[in-house]
Amino acid sequence: MKAITVEPKRTGSAQLENIPESDLGEGSVLVEAVAVGVCGTDIEIVEGKYGWAPPGKTRLVLGHESLGRVLDPGPTGSLKAGDLVVGIVRRPDPVPCPNCAVGEWDMCTNGRYTERGIKEIHGFMSEQWRIEPEYAMKVDPSLGLLGVLIEPTTVVAKAWEHVAEIGQRAFWEPRTVLVTGAGPIGLLAALIGTQRGLEVHVLDRAETGPKPDLVRALGAKYHAGSAREIGFQPDVVIECTGVGSVIADSLATVASGGIVCLTGVGSGGTAKQMPLADAASQVVLRNMVIVGSVNANKRHWYRAGKILARADASWLSRLVTRRVRPQSFAKALEREPDDIKVVIQFAEA
Ligand SMILES: [Zn+2]
Repeated sequence: MKAITVEPKRTGSAQLENIPESDLGEGSVLVEAVAVGVCGTDIEIVEGKYGWAPPGKTRLVLGHESLGRVLDPGPTGSLKAGDLVVGIVRRPDPVPCPNCAVGEWDMCTNGRYTERGIKEIHGFMSEQWRIEPEYAMKVDPSLGLLGVLIEPTTVVAKAWEHVAEIGQRAFWEPRTVLVTGAGPIGLLAALIGTQRGLEVHVLDRAETGPKPDLVRALGAKYHAGSAREIGFQPDVVIECTGVGSVIADSLATVASGGIVCLTGVGSGGTAKQMPLADAASQVVLRNMVIVGSVNANKRHWYRAGKILARADASWLSRLVTRRVRPQSFAKALEREPDDIKVVIQFAEA
């Protein structure tokens, strides 16, 4: 069968090639691929900056934002042939650490977890894939192709869950949220903010293109520019850019007692904008919380499916800005100016 594979840590090694049928050891559920979303992590892997092949192999099947249709549900579990499913990405470490032992592999403490399409397990960019029934989540059939948005939604479902948990440390009635970055993660964070009944503001560099309209269509306010210029102090900031100056501005702007949740993975930046001890003093004197959030566990996958099923399908469909066939996968891995979510489509949903 055809698969998009890469030799991790080798630039330009991505190719569409024939690989053997997936091994029964990868799971008893056999799935036909429908679509796989592309994100920054995939691009980093293709650029040779990240990723690990399975032990003993040189190549990795790419892709972690899955959507597929069950061909054979196997002998256990409740799935049926024809069900739309997504595959959970992370697997617990083999020790396991206490968090992995209780199913919170997103909080793995020893870093020995594995991830489909990223770290030591083949991903979902193959015509068929297998999965363990306990790691396959059934997708609400009404979502169809939009089920491919579940994985990125899990990331912000977890972030919001942690923000809400942290808020309970004191009397807390949040009213406003600022989301920095209007890519797929930021827009999905904004969607959850509206579902939670908050006044949602989204900030991004873009002044044109689809982002401002998508934010307004949610009933949220769009800001192009700096967080320091938004004119109010948000109770929550969901930071989705990983850019140093945006993070510094977020810390300077959030309300007293506010929570800044970092979801972006960046590098560099300058400490001049906010020297660390000065930032720490602000955090202390204003009871602020800065929290990082990565990945998601099964509870967040379940919630992400519910969040998308409750959302306006026509709005969600505008997030998928390009669909590319597997033969043209290289086009999906190139960023175009108006891209939000690009998907590689293997079959009709
Ligand atoms: Zn662990």
